Amino acid sequence: MVKVLSVVVMKFSLTRDHPCSNQHYCCSWLSILQLCKKGDFLALDLGGTNFRVLLVKVSDNGKQKMEMENQIYAIPEELMRGSGAELFDHIAECLANFLEKLGMKNQKLPLGFTFSFHCQQTKLDESILVSWTKGFNSHGVEGRDVVSLLRKAIIKRGDFDIDIVSVINDNVGTMMTCGYDDHHCEIGLIVGTGTNACYMEEMRHLELVEGDEGRMCVNMEWGAFGDDGALDDLRTDFDQEIDAGSLNPGKQLFEKMISGMYMGELVRLILVKMAKEDLVFQGHTTPDLVTNGQLQTSFVSAIENDKLVVFVCMLRGLGLDPSVDDCVATQRVCQVVSTRAAHLCAAALAAVLRQIRDNKAAERFARRLHKMVRRLVPDCDVRFLRSEDSSGKGAAMVTAVAFRLAIQHAGRQRILDALRLSQEQLLDVKRRMGEEMNRGLAKESHDQATVKMLPTFVRSMPDGTESGDFLALDLGGTNFRVLLVRVRRWKRRSVEMHNKIYAIPQEAMQGTGEELFDHIVHCIADFLEYMGMKGASLPLGFTFSFPCHQSKLDQGILLKWTKGFKATGCEGEDVVTLLKDAIYRKEEFDLDVVALVNDTVGTMMTCGYEDPLCEVGLIVGTGTNVCYMEEMQNMELVDGGEGKMCVNMEWGAFGDHGELDDFSTDFDKAVDEHSANPGKQTYEKMISGMYLGEIVRNVLLEFTTKGLLFRGKLSERLKTRGIFETKFLSQIESDRLALRQVRSILQHLGLTSSTCDDSILVKEVCSVVACRAAQLCGAGLAAVVDKIRQNRNLPELKITVGVDGTLYKLHPHFSNFMHETVRDLAPQCKVTFIQSEDGSGKGAALITAVACRIRDAGQR
Ligand code: ADP
Repeated sequence: MVKVLSVVVMKFSLTRDHPCSNQHYCCSWLSILQLCKKGDFLALDLGGTNFRVLLVKVSDNGKQKMEMENQIYAIPEELMRGSGAELFDHIAECLANFLEKLGMKNQKLPLGFTFSFHCQQTKLDESILVSWTKGFNSHGVEGRDVVSLLRKAIIKRGDFDIDIVSVINDNVGTMMTCGYDDHHCEIGLIVGTGTNACYMEEMRHLELVEGDEGRMCVNMEWGAFGDDGALDDLRTDFDQEIDAGSLNPGKQLFEKMISGMYMGELVRLILVKMAKEDLVFQGHTTPDLVTNGQLQTSFVSAIENDKLVVFVCMLRGLGLDPSVDDCVATQRVCQVVSTRAAHLCAAALAAVLRQIRDNKAAERFARRLHKMVRRLVPDCDVRFLRSEDSSGKGAAMVTAVAFRLAIQHAGRQRILDALRLSQEQLLDVKRRMGEEMNRGLAKESHDQATVKMLPTFVRSMPDGTESGDFLALDLGGTNFRVLLVRVRRWKRRSVEMHNKIYAIPQEAMQGTGEELFDHIVHCIADFLEYMGMKGASLPLGFTFSFPCHQSKLDQGILLKWTKGFKATGCEGEDVVTLLKDAIYRKEEFDLDVVALVNDTVGTMMTCGYEDPLCEVGLIVGTGTNVCYMEEMQNMELVDGGEGKMCVNMEWGAFGDHGELDDFSTDFDKAVDEHSANPGKQTYEKMISGMYLGEIVRNVLLEFTTKGLLFRGKLSERLKTRGIFETKFLSQIESDRLALRQVRSILQHLGLTSSTCDDSILVKEVCSVVACRAAQLCGAGLAAVVDKIRQNRNLPELKITVGVDGTLYKLHPHFSNFMHETVRDLAPQCKVTFIQSEDGSGKGAALITAVACRIRDAGQR
């Protein structure tokens, strides 16, 4: 027998292509204790010997108490095999009767439905019946969701209402019930009329279910093991005979060797054969002995229990007159049949245990089962608990857990909903941005406008005829750089660039303006020498990323230093003059400072050099800003009504006068309050890289305070401003990243007590915050492109937007969300997005090149 058993190794069929791998949603085991919601739960139990309705009261006063009331109802034969609709009407009627008796018809209670038939389950509250068994054959139910059918029947009555939260199989109920008493219980085993098992499987092995963290309860439907021939070498003539005479030949072959429905029949067939071969009963059979179903499984148990008197009576009841030898032989047959069943069951269970043990590491079906399991897997610590009323209590347990999870889920979603914007709200943002743009352009409203719409004096895009060597300076980004850019006519894609990065020492940043600009000129001299061009006089473009008021291309009054610069004598001064003065002092070379450039304009120019349709520049990095080509006639701040000029929108300040107040959340307010410039750059603070991580951290703080995350434990790390950098949003949302990697990011952040559920939630928060940022940005951009289209009176506009910024470029979904929003909100604009490379270097040189071309043409 042992030899045979060692051959019975269940193969686990958890892959997509296996039709029987039916999973039941459960929850991570630890969660059960933590999450059981106290309260009253209804349970229905259909598919066992009786149909029952139960009321389970769960209390979580630390003692985990459950009280039950239940009522058994009959299911008439004609309903078991009649119309499915009538069957569910009957179930609803039983439920109504039960509630009526308890005086609870007016309460909407959560209900768990133990439906112990072969189902395909897709959700906790949806289960499609694959096939009826156990004598049921109601029409019109197979292939349909039994929860919907029950709901329909209840709605049709209209006299009570319930909330069907979960539908489970009886073995899941068994596991859940025992798990309530013993947290080590991870396997549910049913050996009754039929046999089946369930166990907690690692999510990563469940290809049919998304996600790879945590575990889920798998309903094995193991009774069908062997239906593909896997047990053929173990099946005897008796097994074949039983199968041939059954209601479902060729099916449930493993179950037919094990379960109560067939054990008595197996013994009977063996006794008939033995009698025919004159081995027992003096070679006589009786009409009862040769009649199907006359020997019950209880007979086997009686013999097994050595109740010989009962057993002799039973044999006599079959018309037999057993001798002592017959009794001994029959007892032996019963032992063999029962032992084989127990051992087969043990072997299958051993395979389950191996599976569980392999992943990380069940008192009696009989003592034999326990013993054999120990022999087969000596390295597993197995305890068997007898489940009391598993189907009913278990359904209530699943329902209680699901109910609490549902309440927590709803709580989280309420918080996140504040960060979700509808299409109408986004259209509102677009409309208000459009209004603010017009206010910024108009002379009389300009001062009050939040979107300043600053003229840049860049009036032409490159046309490809630009040529020459140009210097570019880039001050105000992460590094100070000097660049040599060689632009060649008609060679749009072959701009040659050389650059050198220089440090700006603290004393230069915070000393006098002269010292700062002398240092800059010193770097230029060093660069020219490095390039072998000492003393060369070249046209220069200056990307100066600080707020400036420009009244000419080559002039800009510094309004205010930012980003740590404090050099004295510069604010209120023209930075081009400051640079020229320093060049003059150096007396080494002369430079023709042609253009003072904003980085958005550089971005637009760089992309415009490759794509003539590019007339918008967008930056989504540390901050966010946009520039675009506006009609001169709309620009009241600049004289001359002809042609176009690039407008630096400075759109980050949109919302500073309350335009975004109805979309702003408490999280945005917290971020603003603790920022360096409260009340300013409202739009930018909802969109850009400097702030998104902080918004996420504030949402996580709120979740934790409300006990919805990190088990409610507020760590010092989470309270620390700035720990959640925006790059983590990109990492966490990366499609390639498994949840356990999200967990390790959280651990890296010092959020060490995170569970896999926490990881899922953190990921959702990141996703909602990034999506809102991208949509808000898209709504603003939709206003810009639609304005350009309306300026030109076009039914449809084809336009390209040049984009730069690490958030746009590296976040896995930001760009897609933004593109989608622009498409939805500006359907008459066909917008192409291209990424800009080095807009602040190459762009500054190109602006200079265009200005030189125009100047040269003017001189000719
Ligand atoms: P800047 O706008 O200062 O010129 P960048 O375009 O490089 O510079 O943007 C820097 C911003 O991008 C920082 O605020 C940072 O939070 C954010 N960032 C850095 N790495 C990533 C990333 N992988 N995903 C999203 N944002 C990032």
